[in-house]
This record gives sequence, structure tokens and C-alpha cells, in this order.
Amino acid sequence: MTRKVFNFSPGPALIPEPVLRQAADEMLDWQGTGMSVMEVSHRGKDFMALHARAIADLRELLAIPPNYKVLFMQGGALAENAIVPLNLMGDAGQADYLLTGQWSLKSAREAARYGQVNIVADAAGAAGADAPGAKGAYTHIPEQSVWKLSREAAYLHLCTSETIEGVEFQRDPIVGLGEHEVSPDVPIVADMSSHILSRVIDVSRYGCLYGGAQKNIGPAGLTFVIVREDLIGRAHRLCPSAFNYQVVADNDSMFNTPPTFGIYLAGLVFEWLKAQGGVAAIEAINIEKARMLYDAIDGSGLYQNRVSRTDRSRMNVTFFLRDERLNEAFLADAREAGLMNLKGHRVVGGMRASIYNAMPIEGVRALVAFMRDFEQRRG
Ligand code: PMP
Repeated sequence: MTRKVFNFSPGPALIPEPVLRQAADEMLDWQGTGMSVMEVSHRGKDFMALHARAIADLRELLAIPPNYKVLFMQGGALAENAIVPLNLMGDAGQADYLLTGQWSLKSAREAARYGQVNIVADAAGAAGADAPGAKGAYTHIPEQSVWKLSREAAYLHLCTSETIEGVEFQRDPIVGLGEHEVSPDVPIVADMSSHILSRVIDVSRYGCLYGGAQKNIGPAGLTFVIVREDLIGRAHRLCPSAFNYQVVADNDSMFNTPPTFGIYLAGLVFEWLKAQGGVAAIEAINIEKARMLYDAIDGSGLYQNRVSRTDRSRMNVTFFLRDERLNEAFLADAREAGLMNLKGHRVVGGMRASIYNAMPIEGVRALVAFMRDFEQRRG
């Protein structure tokens, strides 16, 4: 059996086909144990080896420096919105947040329950995200030169890939002692849920990276946290033990039962990614996939992307039909053509094609061909 459709879902999202095949093949008998990987103890030597290999592979893929811990947690990125301030706000009692879309907005609002939140810039404009019509207003990343950084902040929080709007950082923030640089004393915390492993990043620029696995890593239920060791150990006394980075790190992510199946699948995805040539190699393909799709949008009279060109996401390509009355027909015809889940998030409307690492270039080619055909027929 092969897949009959291309799934452009923003998450849970496509998982590489060879990974699903291997998981299916060994579902009833994992590594000759006679048991499913879901049924074995997380403390058994076989699973412990799998766990260690998954972490080692992730370290290798992202070139994670040795002074960082890789933690596998639960609760997704939204739980991290509370877990991050509980662990990292410390005595400073305040943190900086950059608003670039719905996800960073949610992060800032949750953090405000735990301390003072300074908004360093709001891409929705001076009126902010609550202004009428502002929900579609997140279409760019404010230049670092206009961020109002505070030296007293415990950390600076960014969402480096806004899944809903399709806005993505194209480079790591600049850290240094210059006026507009992020002070090396203020660690950067980044929600990288929707573009982790899709591009080469310099982990050393960040204090903590986190995200849900369900886009570029594996199934929902697994959360990754990559945190610099010196930031561990300052959790608030009310931070639940299972969410305390120190406790999780000391127990090698096994303080409580980890999401074992998620870790297993993530490990297979990491192996698959290494076989593709690693992050730099998949990044080259991701650049090409995004170029094909944006070229098709920009070259058409029917489709339109509203994100500033320098901040356009390679992973979540958002677009609108200039005649919105055609939206339903577009989606229905796309489904008919085997192109699934192209509807944009309800907050911004329009369309969104999520083209994570696992989306083959043929999927993008099929989408582009469909869009051209639809425009000819209906545009
Ligand atoms: N941050 C980003 C960038 C996301 O895309 C999402 C989910 N789409 C979330 C946070 C929320 O993640 P979760 O549902 O795993 O908590």
C-alpha cells in the first residue's frame, strides 16, 4: 500500500513514509522481543538504548554543544509557555517577549501569570493584537534594531516560526554587546515547534529551544527542550517536579514515564533525516520547495501571500485567493486531487500549505500544478 494523498496539515503533520513503514513492520515484534515497543519498560536496557541513541542523533543533527541538555517532556509547546517562566524567570521576575504572531502572543499571555512581561516589539503594530482587524496583522518580524530589550529580563522569548501566519526568522538573532544586540546575559528562549530541524541553526545563540514534536519530529505527545546547563536549577518552588528542568535532566527525562512511542518514532525520524544527509541537506530541499510554491503564488493573478518577503516561512506557506468566494471550491477540488488540509487557520483565514521536512518535493509539485489548473478553470 502506498499513500494516495499529500497531507499539508500544520500538525500533527506528515511523518516520513519509510518511518511509518518500519514502525508498522515492527509493531508487533520490536527487535525480536516479541513485544511492541509500546509495551516495553522505559527502564529496560533496550528502550534505554533507543532513548540514548535518539538524543545522540538529535545532538548530532543540530550540532548541540556539550553544555546543553536535551530533555524529552510532555505537554506540548503550550505547556512550555508556563514551564519556561516557572523554570527560567528566577529572581528577575520579568522577561522580554517579542510578538510576531498568535503563538508568541499566547506565550506572552501565559508568562504574564508568572511574572512581569515586557513586550519588546509587537508586529501587529502600536495598537497591538487586540485592535480590530489586527488578527491578520502579523505579517513580518520587527527588525532587531527596534526591539526594546531590557537588561533586567531573565530571558528574551521568541517564536522563530509562526505556524499560523507563516512568518519565520531567516537567521538567528544577533547576540553581543552592541546597542541593538541581545545581551549575552539575557538568554534567548525560542519556540521552534514548526521549523526545528528544517534549517541549520546556531544553538549556542540560544539559552533554551523548545517545541512540540508533531510537525518536524514525530507524533504529538512528545515535547523537546534543549537547554543550556547553567540555566537549569532556578525553578520556582511551585514548579511541578515533572516540569522542573533540573528534575527532568537529573533523571535523564525519566522522572516520570516518558512518551515512549513518541520517542521511538522521533528516533526513527532522526535516523531518516541523517540518511537524507542531515539538516543542511534537507534545508536545501526545503528552500527549493518553498521557492516553487512562492513563485507559483507570486506569478499568479489569483493567489496572494501577505507576509513580507524577507520573513516568509519555508514551512508554513500561507496564501489567499483574491476572490474569497472561490475558497470552498478550491478546497473541495484540492481534496479531489488528493491535496489535503490546505485550509488556513481560522484566525487568519485563506489557505496554508505546511511543507515540513517529510513533504516530498512531488507533493509541492502536485500542489503547484493543481493551483495553476484551478486558476485557469476558475480564476
Ligand atoms: N507554538 C507553535 C509555533 C505551534 O505551531 C503550536 C501548535 N501548532 C504551538 C506552539 C502549540 O503547541 P501544542 O499544541 O503542542 O501545545
